[in-house]
Amino acid sequence: MPMLRTLLIVEDQHDLAELVALHLSDLAQRIHLCSDGVEALRIAAATPPDLVVLDLGLPGLDGLEVCRRLRASARYVPILMLTSRSSDAERVLGLELGADDYLVKPFNVMELVARAKAIVRRMDGLANAASDAVIRSGTLAIDPAARRVTLAGTPIALTAREFDLLLHFALHPGRVFTREQLLDTVWGGAHGGYAHTVNSHINRLRAKIETDAADPRWIQTVWGVGYRFAAAGAA
Ligand code: CA
Repeated sequence: MPMLRTLLIVEDQHDLAELVALHLSDLAQRIHLCSDGVEALRIAAATPPDLVVLDLGLPGLDGLEVCRRLRASARYVPILMLTSRSSDAERVLGLELGADDYLVKPFNVMELVARAKAIVRRMDGLANAASDAVIRSGTLAIDPAARRVTLAGTPIALTAREFDLLLHFALHPGRVFTREQLLDTVWGGAHGGYAHTVNSHINRLRAKIETDAADPRWIQTVWGVGYRFAAAGAA
């Protein structure tokens, strides 16, 4: 299991912060705890964390604002958001600058560990697979280091998951992936595994990058099997 160099836990319920720290202590060499958003940003700027466990409801600067500001920094930081209501999911994940994943309180600590490990595996896998070189396919450009995508020079706002999905495809042009394989690699196996989750992300990704969703230039459907990214030079 790869290690996090630094983990930042931002949670104003001290007992919960301690519980999270205890259960993720095997994953991280160094853990910073803090209870407000301003302090979290200060720590993150001084010691960029490899993962942030971020409470949504914080005094002062709330979790979403902290998330937004962390996303504005050059270095991509994975964020696992803690929320009090499952109805926050859309808000937390749906924004283009949203969290990588979320857990609803009260959560099972084993679930917390599984989600954190999945994020680490996913980031490690993507980091190993991708050099820092920008991947270009026609007018589409994917910058793995900055996690930015442009289409004919125009920036495209993608959620963390949409970006991972697109990067995974683009790293393997022409290769067909089943929905199960995509759930395993892009979602890190931490989710129940619903094919419709993949479908809905593919649809949203297509809506953002494809001109003609009925005849996709990049994300192609392979009927009865899954999806593939257009083979180099083929499209
Ligand atoms: Ca709170």
